[in-house]
Amino acid sequence: MTGLSVLAVTKTYRVELPRADALSSLIRFFSGRSPTRAFNALEDISFSLAPGSALAVCGPNGSGKTTLLKVLAGIAAPSGGSVTFAGKKVCLLGFASILQDRLSVRENARLCAVFFELPGSAAENAEKIMEAGALSDLCNARAGELSAGMRLRLPFMAALLSGADLYLIDEALAVGDAAFRAKCLAGLNALRQRGAILVFATHDQALARAMADTALMLEAGRMTFLGPVGGLPAPAQAAAPGEAFLAGLKRFALLYEQLKAAGFRLKESARATDEELLLAHTASWLARLKANDLTPEEERSRALPHSRDILPLAWRMAGGTIAAARAAAASGGLGVYPPGGGHHAFPGGGEGFSPVNDIAVAARVLLRDGAVKRPAVIDLDAHQGNGTAFIFADGAVKTFSAHRADGYPARRVRSSMDVDLPAGADGAAYLAAVKRGVEDFLELAQPDFVFALCSADAYEGDALGGLKVSEQGLRQRDEFLFKTLAEKKLPACLVLSGAYSAPEAAARINFNTIQAAAAAFGAAGAELNV
Ligand SMILES: [Zn+2]
Repeated sequence: MTGLSVLAVTKTYRVELPRADALSSLIRFFSGRSPTRAFNALEDISFSLAPGSALAVCGPNGSGKTTLLKVLAGIAAPSGGSVTFAGKKVCLLGFASILQDRLSVRENARLCAVFFELPGSAAENAEKIMEAGALSDLCNARAGELSAGMRLRLPFMAALLSGADLYLIDEALAVGDAAFRAKCLAGLNALRQRGAILVFATHDQALARAMADTALMLEAGRMTFLGPVGGLPAPAQAAAPGEAFLAGLKRFALLYEQLKAAGFRLKESARATDEELLLAHTASWLARLKANDLTPEEERSRALPHSRDILPLAWRMAGGTIAAARAAAASGGLGVYPPGGGHHAFPGGGEGFSPVNDIAVAARVLLRDGAVKRPAVIDLDAHQGNGTAFIFADGAVKTFSAHRADGYPARRVRSSMDVDLPAGADGAAYLAAVKRGVEDFLELAQPDFVFALCSADAYEGDALGGLKVSEQGLRQRDEFLFKTLAEKKLPACLVLSGAYSAPEAAARINFNTIQAAAAAFGAAGAELNV
């Protein structure tokens, strides 16, 4: 029996550039092709495995695990380098798709016998597969009636019985119940004793340690570890909220590109003055902001991680929201400042990624200047707008907050109107509650100006929001809100506050929100504050 040898394997894909600038359009026009860039799915991967060894391929989603298995299986050709193996390969990768729900368990067992090239008659092999999978009693049931875990026993057992020399398995060991999993692991170990090589991709380091002797760690297509499985670096801790916050900031660069491509003009705002910040904050907090000297303990208790980076943003944040609010008030239409929405900041101190309460500052500026009489805040962030509610507890500015019922922030302050949503609320429940709440609120508050805080953190992919609203659901929310405000001829200042999903998704959702607002107000291509 021979070993598996992988030498300097590289896999490069061409991906289309998601750009709509003039140069890309020209390239597309003259060449008939979209401009592309190279994406390295795998870079310079080399290792060799002796007969009877097992390799765990570890790494986060998108790191190249499946691509590596496909190249080893011969499903994808490497762009460079070589894979050498002489023997029968079995690939358990996307294999659930060979099962036919409308056929019986026995017929599916025959399909698997043929698919995995079991030597001998398909009928006899089908009986062996069902027996090994403890499915003989269910032989006449339709496969579609079985649970997903039970159905997968068929291809898995067929693969084990196929007597291959190399097994390539993609996360398949994660399925099924514990007893079946133990049986699979025992079966794979027996195959290894006979000299078969096992390569499996997994997120589960415990499984890697139990099953493999060697581990390979991939990150963004590069091998960051190769060696005995005991030396595998421990998994990174789940991102702390502070990391999620900083990651959330990455979306702005993407968002601004999309906005420019869609014809919006971006205008840098002036910083707020100390005098303006003092309209909503105490002199002592302003002094702390200037000193920029929070202790690590204060950073934790206030949830202002990396305060040295965040605190100096206070003047910019407040300045942007003031500028957007003034633009909306002056035109009677829409103003937008994407980074605004520090709704957890109290007069005496920032909290929850909010160094200052820019909305409170801007509302007080407009009131002081006589630009508005009855501003109101509609806060659709997944977290309660406690700081804003506290600052306007006197009722001079009416506040509305629709948020997750539990979770952050622990210290809640009653808004003029609160809508508590159960954790995990999805599109229909969320939309119905928000619609009714906003309609009631506008009826009661009778504002002449609205600050709209339309965060993307109610999105189902958000790490900190705890709600389960789809991208489409959020779009419907925003279309409803801005159509309602535009119909009532209410000027609106839109801010987007936090987002803790992947930067691409967060940027797209923010973009949709701005599009919905601009469409409702007939302000497509308008000037935005950044
Ligand atoms: Zn939030």
